[in-house]
Amino acid sequence: MNKAVVDLIGVDKEYGGHPALTGISLTIADGEFLSLLGPSGCGKTTLLRLIGGFEKCTRGTLLLDGRAMDPIPPEKRAVNTVFQNYALFPHMSVFDNVAFGLRMAKKPAAEITRSVASALELVQLAGMERRRPNELSGGQQQRVAIARAIVNKPRVLLLDEPLSALDHRLRKQMQKELKQLQRTLGITFVLVTHDQDEAFAMSDRVVVMQHGRIEQIGTPMEIYEEPVNLYVARFVGDINVLDGVVRNRLGSSTYQALVEDATVSLKSKQPLELGQPIHVLLRPEDFRLELERDIAESRDLSAKFQQARLKGTVRRIFYHGATYDVEVALESGNRIQVTEFFDEDSENLYFKPGDAVILGWHEGWEVVLPHEK
Ligand code: ATP
Repeated sequence: MNKAVVDLIGVDKEYGGHPALTGISLTIADGEFLSLLGPSGCGKTTLLRLIGGFEKCTRGTLLLDGRAMDPIPPEKRAVNTVFQNYALFPHMSVFDNVAFGLRMAKKPAAEITRSVASALELVQLAGMERRRPNELSGGQQQRVAIARAIVNKPRVLLLDEPLSALDHRLRKQMQKELKQLQRTLGITFVLVTHDQDEAFAMSDRVVVMQHGRIEQIGTPMEIYEEPVNLYVARFVGDINVLDGVVRNRLGSSTYQALVEDATVSLKSKQPLELGQPIHVLLRPEDFRLELERDIAESRDLSAKFQQARLKGTVRRIFYHGATYDVEVALESGNRIQVTEFFDEDSENLYFKPGDAVILGWHEGWEVVLPHEK
């Protein structure tokens, strides 16, 4: 990891005695794209406002480039913010909006002209200098807000749900552009979002939050593949949770367990004890689904399933275009979601409601967690 730009050490934030953030320790690396991800009210914006200097920590330390930030006001920090509502000056032209900060800092006119032109070029708004915000589309206003924030080359750019007002297509396009902009500038970006796709598409690392605490910090792949608890697993996509009990230890990290009614071998990162209740987590795309009658006809069962076989019945099908989801009721009553791809040779879906099926997965594809109460 590059050297730290922002360091939060044991930070708490309270409003009128109510905790908004608790025990936040987080190091943000120079040039990193980091997202703060969590549901409404989990403290993402509060964390951003602390870094920006709009709020003070109740306890703990906030460092920027190794310097304590507590006494430093927002305008003296090498940090800029792009707000959700853009906060443009409506009576000023695009040029004047972007030039505002540089003029306040009393930069020479020639430098201002040069810097504004280069910032507008970066956000693809060259030629629109004279327009007012109300003469721009939502996407263009967003670009002005970004140009204004990057024009004085901050160390850190804070983005508070900057794409939430845009339609789906524009949002996807702006995600790519923001990521490209961050690479070009090499500035550290900290993005607040409640949208997992957005966080995953753009970030080097994602911080998943709940109730003012950090639940997990990791790359998008680590968060998706190795969630540390059920909350994180559920927040970042569909997940099936099977319950089980540890029966035997097979190796240093492999165990035999009873899951639903099948005996399976599992890999676990954490040590488990015999008799311990566990959750076995599998994403819908991790399962292999077979019709019971196909299995019965097949002589080589082991080739089809190297792992558990759970019996169930197809209940419902959800069509998504390139894939479809099959909802399977297991014998225990537990309902499982399995994602299937279309068979290119067939016009019909392979599975239909009422089919007796067998579910399996390959050892090691599961995530095993101690059972949560
Ligand atoms: P959202 O996605 O809805 O913006 P968030 O994750 O950004 O949510 P915060 O805005 O950081 O959440 O709020 C965290 C908690 O702190 C919430 O319970 C909120 O009500 C509280 N809070 C935030 N700002 C203030 C304030 N100025 N005064 C009192 N309480 C506040």
